[in-house]
Amino acid sequence: MKPASIAAQALGWVDEKTRAIVPPIHPSTTFIRDPDNQYRSGRGYARDQNPTFDQAEAVLTALEGGHASLLFASGMAAATAVFQALAPGDHVLAPKVMYWSLRNWLANFATRWGLRVDFIDMTDADALRRSIQPGKTKLVWIETPANPLWSITDIALSCEIAHAAGAVVAVDSTVATPVLTRPFEFGADIVMHAGTKYLNGHSDVMAGTLTTREDTALWQRVRAIRAQVGGVLGTFEAWLLTRGMRTLFPRVRAASASAQAIAEHFDKHPQVEEVLYPGLGSFKGHAVAAKQMRGGFGGMLSIRVRGAGGGEAAAIAAAAKVQLWKRATSLGGVESLVEHRASVEGAGTPVPTDLLRLSTGIEDTGDLIADLEQALGR
Ligand SMILES: *Cc1c(COP(=O)(O)O)cnc(C)c1O
Repeated sequence: MKPASIAAQALGWVDEKTRAIVPPIHPSTTFIRDPDNQYRSGRGYARDQNPTFDQAEAVLTALEGGHASLLFASGMAAATAVFQALAPGDHVLAPKVMYWSLRNWLANFATRWGLRVDFIDMTDADALRRSIQPGKTKLVWIETPANPLWSITDIALSCEIAHAAGAVVAVDSTVATPVLTRPFEFGADIVMHAGTKYLNGHSDVMAGTLTTREDTALWQRVRAIRAQVGGVLGTFEAWLLTRGMRTLFPRVRAASASAQAIAEHFDKHPQVEEVLYPGLGSFKGHAVAAKQMRGGFGGMLSIRVRGAGGGEAAAIAAAAKVQLWKRATSLGGVESLVEHRASVEGAGTPVPTDLLRLSTGIEDTGDLIADLEQALGR
């Protein structure tokens, strides 16, 4: 079965009792112990053994081609669990351009707990070679395409360098989704998603996921952290996530096709300084993106708006004028969103002040282009 078929039918599971093709929700927090003191059902308590997690985790594992998956309460809960599974003194490498909240947490909290964190230009293999400390660097964190410049990191090449130095590679694949990139095919060890974004796809669930290629000691610690720290997904959210993933393929394909058309339309536009989109032939990471992304370059792009004094005021003014696009943070939903990213990230951000981040939804492409045209003042 092709991944699109797996997703559409959520692995085709049928409920044994009722023959329902939609799974039941199990709100129970606790499970009956057998008279002889065993738990033959395999479940004692729902913090870590919620049956409603099973299908979403199994679907995601199949889509990524991995060994096992875990659901978390948010993308941040999932990502931080990987770092928490390391030991004080361990060295990790993370990208300079990455999801802002995680970068903040790494710089301000992970370091207080004894991790040694260096932020490097992860798109530059030589920078990775120079910065990796064999035996000391335990984890290399990659995000590709990376928020919000959509910088592309070569997963296969990074894995080669990291593995030679004894480090594990984790990929935040939120933007690529398993529809466009399967990081395990390029050697990655762990894949993370903000399930809040494309996997659920309807801007109505906070969720995070981790998938592992193999069962390892690190993965067992991640598992224990979820069970013991308790950043678990709610039952209803897990059910909604399974439902959302059923339409993952058509949503991501539609958003990618639209984003490609929007990027091409505004590239060389008189009001636009630059369009950042991996699907443009002129984009710096295009060749690597073409190698590791299949069937499209994703629904995320950014435009740098031209205007007096560097474009910041023009960018904010354009965001103020959109009607169909919605002025909001987040990404990966069926509705298109626009955000002046530098206002969100604040001091120390690598994001140009004239940049608008666009999350393309599944509305009519012509409508989306027309709305941006009028917002840019044409
Ligand atoms: C949103 C996002 C996260 C964090 O996910 P939450 O569910 O908001 O905690 C991490 N990485 C990327 C790329 C994201 O877009």
